[in-house]
This record gives sequence, structure tokens and C-alpha cells, in this order.
Amino acid sequence: MRLFVAALGTETNTFAPLPVDRSAFERAFYAPPGRHPETPTLTTAPIVAARVRARRDGFTLIEGTAAWAEPAGLVARGAYEGLRDEILGQLSAAMPVDVALFGLHGAMVADGYEDCEGDLLARARPIVGPNAILGAEYDLHCHLTPKRVAAANLSILFKEFPHTDFLARAEELVDLALRAARREIRPVSALFDCRSLGGGYMTSHPTGRAFVERVRALEGRDGILSVSIGHGFYAADVPEVGCKVLVIADGDKAKAAALAETLGRELLALGRSGIPPHVEPADVIATACSHAGSPVVFADRWDNPGGGVPGDGAIMIEELLRHPDVPSAIGVLWDPIAVEFCRSAGAGGHLWLRIGGKSTPVSGRPVDAHVVVRAVSDDLVIPFEQSLVSFGPAAAVSIGGLDIVLGTKRTQTFAPEAFTRLGIDLSRKKVVVVKSSNHFHAAFSKIAAAIHHLDTGGPFPPDPTRVTYTRVRRPIAPLDADPWAGTR
Ligand SMILES: [Zn+2]
Repeated sequence: MRLFVAALGTETNTFAPLPVDRSAFERAFYAPPGRHPETPTLTTAPIVAARVRARRDGFTLIEGTAAWAEPAGLVARGAYEGLRDEILGQLSAAMPVDVALFGLHGAMVADGYEDCEGDLLARARPIVGPNAILGAEYDLHCHLTPKRVAAANLSILFKEFPHTDFLARAEELVDLALRAARREIRPVSALFDCRSLGGGYMTSHPTGRAFVERVRALEGRDGILSVSIGHGFYAADVPEVGCKVLVIADGDKAKAAALAETLGRELLALGRSGIPPHVEPADVIATACSHAGSPVVFADRWDNPGGGVPGDGAIMIEELLRHPDVPSAIGVLWDPIAVEFCRSAGAGGHLWLRIGGKSTPVSGRPVDAHVVVRAVSDDLVIPFEQSLVSFGPAAAVSIGGLDIVLGTKRTQTFAPEAFTRLGIDLSRKKVVVVKSSNHFHAAFSKIAAAIHHLDTGGPFPPDPTRVTYTRVRRPIAPLDADPWAGTR
């Protein structure tokens, strides 16, 4: 048994003003063959999972390149083609293989490629031949295109949002691929298109939790091998954007198709009930004070670097400064210039600083304030499940009772360590604002008196009905009144 594994991912917000080139991958995460660390990252977990199984089962593992860029705007054509050809060249050199697996986020869009993952897998298939098992792991915020599903034998998505199960799903992918290669199972896939840009839910919320538990209970019995719910990523103007359900059955395509449609209809019936209500910035202090304990955590989910936007929005800084009596903290804002100034001033230094609001017209005004530098770090590293995430050089500054954490690498605020590693005691804060959509939830729920989501208005974009799409297949909800018109 010979197994090849590689990883290539990013999440492309086609509306974001941040171009992605090869150096963006090299800065965020780039590991040539054999150089991947022992800990997994969000989209490279199949490499770690395959290593563990290779040691246990004794098969031959050939590792290819693993690369990830922090979510941002369109990927340059040369960057995608270069990384793709690097990996496909490694695959060709590894032949013959029985299994080829890829860790892919699944929402990468490059100049000239609206479905990078479909392109990669369709090119991998003739290399490995018709009988090898081709499989991929995806983030649930992916574009589950028919092209990529058809090219692969196994497509498995994260089930949890926050994505706490990226390693578990990778282990499942490796296990199913080995069973398929041994001809113990014959995976067949069916995809149901919900024709909706929405359809997402948070599994930290009761409605989403119940739906995922229902899905999990269907797997591993009655010929159903795997069920994936694709929430889609509507910050991308590509034809196959949207919510889809994928079922993999053992040899029975009709059974897979029937279950995919049943679950797709159930998902549509959930509507927005799996997403908690959002608080307006002006209501944050009153909302926080309605809870007895501390801290009350608010997620600035539309200025989340994990969704491809800059993460330097200052709207909530301005709001918190209106309430100097309320001890608060906010982070992590992407502001390399401010970090450089703070590092020059050093811990304990005082300076006038312009903070945030530099990247988009809807990121708020920059805040100009006299600050005290509380702490600086050469590399602020925090955990996210089994992975470690870096903000690069970072600084914490204080304006009265407000502490602000600033970083130089765009990434979302997954865990309280983003504050505590710079000496900020969150138990003394009434309000904590984090730049994250929902991944913060798993770690912050352990210290928060309550958690709320914020609507600061952008720049993500929050409301698909206010976006001009030109490439999305129509009809689709909520852009069209009857998304099924002409499809029945
Ligand atoms: Zn995601």
C-alpha cells in the first residue's frame, strides 16, 4: 500500500482588497515534503493523520507540499499554478500510489480559476489512474462543486463550526480511503444543491448542535459511509457558491441521493434559526451590564481575518472609548505599523498612536490616542484545538481601562491567550471584543460569563442581498424569490 498526501488551501473573499501571492502562502504556512510539523493545522490535518496510520499499519507514505494562505482576496494565477504544479509533480514522482489525499480548504479562487480544488483534483485523477482512491478534506465553508466531487472518491467536510473536528475528519478520511483501497467498501457520492447562499449554522448554538448530532447518527450504518453539510462561503462571486449536502454511500448511489435531498430540505427548513441574534455596537455596554458576571465576550464577526477581510476595524474601539468607566479589551487588530511603533517605544513606553481603520471604507475611522505600551512580543502564538497560530510580532496598549492587542500577521482571535500572553487579565474586564466569527467560541466559552455576536456592518460582506454578484448561478436564495424556478 502506497499513500500520497499533500495540502493546499485558502479561503478567498473575492470582495476583499487584499491580493494573495506566493509569499502570502510562505508567510502563513508552507512546508515542503517531510517538513510538516507533528501538530496539524486547520487544512493540513490529513498529513498528520496519515503519518499516524502509516506508523501503525506499516504502509508507505509519500508526503507532498503543504501550503496555506490566511484568507484574503483573489489568489494570483502564478501563485496557484505554481503550488498546484509543485504538488502534482510530487504526485507524478510518487507513482504508483493506491491512495492520494489532499487537505483543501475548498474556497480558493484564483485569477482564471473559479474552482481551484476541482481543477487540482481533475488533474490529479489521470496521474493516479481510474482505480486509485482520491480523497479530500474540506472546510464546511467551501464551494462543493460537482467537478471536484466527481473527480474524487471521497470528499469529507468538517462538521463543527467552530471547526473543532478538523483532525477527527482527517482521521476519518484516511480510514475510509484505506478501506476503499482494500476494496472493503465502494464509496459513491451524491450531491444535493440547496440553491441557497445561506443555510449556515453554528454548532455552538442548540439548533446547529441538534442537526449535526442527527447527521452523525446516520453515518456508519445502513450503507451510509459519510454525510457532509457544505455551508458555502457567500463572500465569493463564483458560479458554485452556496449550501450543499454531500452523502457518500457504500455502492448505492440512489440511497446517497435520497438522503442528501432529505437532509438538504431539512437544512433549508432551519432557515436562520441556527445563527444567534447579533448585537449593534451601541448596545454592547447595556448588553454586557445585563449579565452579572465578567467578562462578557462579543465577536466582531464581520471584521474577522478568517473570513478574508483585513481585521483592522476600529468601530468597536471608538464605541468602548465612550465608556471609560467600563473595563474592556479588544483584539487582535491587524496593524503592522502600530506594532512597529509600539515595539520601538518598548513596554512601559508612552506614545501617540493611530490605531486601525486603515484598510477599507467600512472599517471605521482610525483611532488617534495617547497610549501606554503594556507589553510587546516577538511572536504572539496561541492555540486553536490541536494547532498553533501566530500573530507575528505583537503589542498590547492601554487607553485608560481599555486594552487593545495589535498584531502583524492577520489571523483570527481563537483563544484567550491572545490577551493573557501579553499580561491582560480578562477576569477583570467587563467587555471583551474578539476579531472572530465563531472559532473563538470553543476556548472563550470556558472563561466567558456570556457570549454575543456583533454586527458592526462590515466589511465581510454581511448581507448577500446587498452584494452585486455577476458569476453566481441563478436562481438562488435569497437573491431570487423562487430559487427552484426552472429546475423542477
Ligand atoms: Zn470555515
